[in-house]
Amino acid sequence: MPYSYDDQNIFAKILRGEIPNDTVYEDDHALAFRDIQPQAPHHVLVIPKGPYVTFDHLATEGSDAEIVGFTRAVGKVCALLGVDPGGDGDGYRMISNAGVHGVQEVPHLHIHILAGRPIGRMVS
Ligand code: 5GP
Repeated sequence: MPYSYDDQNIFAKILRGEIPNDTVYEDDHALAFRDIQPQAPHHVLVIPKGPYVTFDHLATEGSDAEIVGFTRAVGKVCALLGVDPGGDGDGYRMISNAGVHGVQEVPHLHIHILAGRPIGRMVS
């Protein structure tokens, strides 16, 4: 089944400036903003600017520039937050929920970055 994108989802509205957000980082390919219901001291959502529902959707239909730009933006946000262990931070958890089993609430690709406290084990 082909991917379809609903441009009335809340993150599409944030991208169009119809809903305010607490921006952490923005460039041509991505927007990062604080989650409205933070689960950790740092809880940032990074979204691509293009109309993609899941990571597979981006990887399949996105241009190389979009894929690379989005990936770099996710890394830049970790660096900006000062949480990347490669840059002497204390680390983070990165999650992307997809579809029904992943309990994806908003159908626009987003990466959760959770940091600022020990996040605990999810998969053993
Ligand atoms: P998921 O789709 O991965 O289950 O989670 C969507 C996330 O978006 C949730 O953590 C939720 O708190 C967050 N969220 C939902 N609506 C808004 C909003 O209007 N603004 C912001 N900043 N975050 C939102």
